[in-house]
Amino acid sequence: MILHAGLPYSLVRFGLPFNYPKLEKNIRTDVVVIGAGISGALTAYSLVNAGISCTVVDARTVGLGSTCASTSLLQYEIDVPLHKLIDKVGEEHAATAYHACKQSIDDIERICKKLKLKEFERKTSLYFASSDKHIPFIEKEFAARRKHGFDVELWSGKQVKSRMGFEAPAAIYSQCAAYTDAYTVTHGLLQYIIGQGAAVYDRTNVLDIDMTARSVTLTTHNGKKIRAKKLVIATGYESTQYIKQHVVDLHATYALLSETYSRSTFWHENCLIWETKEPYRYMRTTHDNRLLIGGRDVNFYNPVKRDKLLRSKSRQLLGDFNELFPKTDFLPEFEWTGTFGTTKDGLPYIGVYPPMKHAYFALGFGGNGITFSQVAAGIVTDMILGKKNELSPVFSFDRLNR
Ligand SMILES: Cc1cc2nc3c(=O)[nH]c(=O)nc-3n(C[C@H](O)[C@H](O)[C@H](O)COP(=O)(O)OP(=O)(O)OC[C@H]3O[C@@H](n4cnc5c(N)ncnc54)[C@H](O)[C@@H]3O)c2cc1C
Repeated sequence: MILHAGLPYSLVRFGLPFNYPKLEKNIRTDVVVIGAGISGALTAYSLVNAGISCTVVDARTVGLGSTCASTSLLQYEIDVPLHKLIDKVGEEHAATAYHACKQSIDDIERICKKLKLKEFERKTSLYFASSDKHIPFIEKEFAARRKHGFDVELWSGKQVKSRMGFEAPAAIYSQCAAYTDAYTVTHGLLQYIIGQGAAVYDRTNVLDIDMTARSVTLTTHNGKKIRAKKLVIATGYESTQYIKQHVVDLHATYALLSETYSRSTFWHENCLIWETKEPYRYMRTTHDNRLLIGGRDVNFYNPVKRDKLLRSKSRQLLGDFNELFPKTDFLPEFEWTGTFGTTKDGLPYIGVYPPMKHAYFALGFGGNGITFSQVAAGIVTDMILGKKNELSPVFSFDRLNR
């Protein structure tokens, strides 16, 4: 798949911070992780910390899947609002999923602190009603979040105007959010596990997976074999090659980043901003005082069509920003587009997929892919250790049979 195009900010900013070797010999390992994006890196980190020896392989250069295109907002509020998720999966599972995502923000912060990775900043988040029609929706969502213990405020149109400077009839202001940089965090995690004795190979495409009763053998593009007891599949949107059922709808999304500004405050607490309209637009600021706006999604994968739209989508995003903040001159510098995937209930698939013995999926489908990746890291590690994980039924492949 061609997962992105244009100039993703993370790649421009951080380039190639580390090189990794290709796999050039046959190896044995306890656990092999396919995929060196944020999902594979967080899972491998968790496995190594649990004392499990593992090897990570990736067909691309590390991080150059979806991870480098990510705008890296961290929100517990997933694409499907809590009150809607309750309708889809029931109150218990919906609340558990939301709390798991909240916990994963804390976990990612802890990891970044431990590894001294600078690219993590705590934020607040504003979810605003895109029109008067959406006020009841915001009120319902606020009630559901409050009921389940989230630290949220309901803002009136007047409060939105006085704090943010733009017109929106209502909004939910959340205390828990953050942003990071999925690409550099991936490198940081992989460097750490290499220091702990794990191995990471990139430009190593896995072409075949052979499962026997006791082990799994991978064959790479250059005929090398990796023999392991367990396999973790963290191959992002390309995981559909392994799953027979239709589990994910692919979309194209767009992002536009401004030049740096001499000022560092743009709106109330520089909170993350998103809205109720679908597809939604979102905004955030960056460490180096830039403005980022993303969204304008379209419902197809076709990368040629997707990339052709980049210019016009950037213009639309610029117009969207100017509409909200007419007094701030958004000076575009970088634009990019990428593919992302959504599932029917907004939750990713994590854990055992019964047709594949010894394999555990660590997928982060959805707009909140990174928080899901961290949830996956915990579930998959527990499964490999043979421990019960309370979150696993919420994200399990069993949902396909319901
Ligand atoms: C423009 C954009 C903005 C986004 N913004 C956000 C955001 O603000 N917040 C958020 O949480 N999420 C966001 N996402 C989603 C997030 O980026 C993804 O969920 C996340 O990067 C997925 O990481 P991953 O490791 O699962 O997949 P990837 O990064 O794609 O990694 C999977 C890896 O598997 C490798 N692979 C696949 N098949 C094989 C094989 N056969 N052999 C070897 N290797 C293989 C690939 O080469 C790839 O590197 C955004 C996505 C896009 C495109």
